[in-house]
Amino acid sequence: MITCVLHVEEGKNSDGQIIKFTDSTLSKCKAALLVYQSREKSKFKLIQLPAQPNDSIGYHPKCYKCFTAVSTAEKLKAVNQSTDHSEVNEATGIILSIRMISFYVLTYCLLLYKI
Ligand SMILES: [Zn+2]
Repeated sequence: MITCVLHVEEGKNSDGQIIKFTDSTLSKCKAALLVYQSREKSKFKLIQLPAQPNDSIGYHPKCYKCFTAVSTAEKLKAVNQSTDHSEVNEATGIILSIRMISFYVLTYCLLLYKI
């Protein structure tokens, strides 16, 4: 049996055939999910998408239309937000390495002047 992974409202949009994902429809859904996850509240936030299309999951055309109805601007914003996070991590990494270097310099100076 094939199930619709984009289904959020029980009983709604459940008419019609369930269509299997392709690489392109799946990546569109992934981009949309990124937008929903960047929002504070979203009914789609908890949707789990598979890494690869497979035979047991799919979507109702209505669910897909509803789920992918996000603007390009929102997608870009969501991508930028996830980029910001990695920049923060990078900066923290640099601060940490500066601390490590000053620790070594300090230890070196102490050894140099004490001996
Ligand atoms: Zn559905």
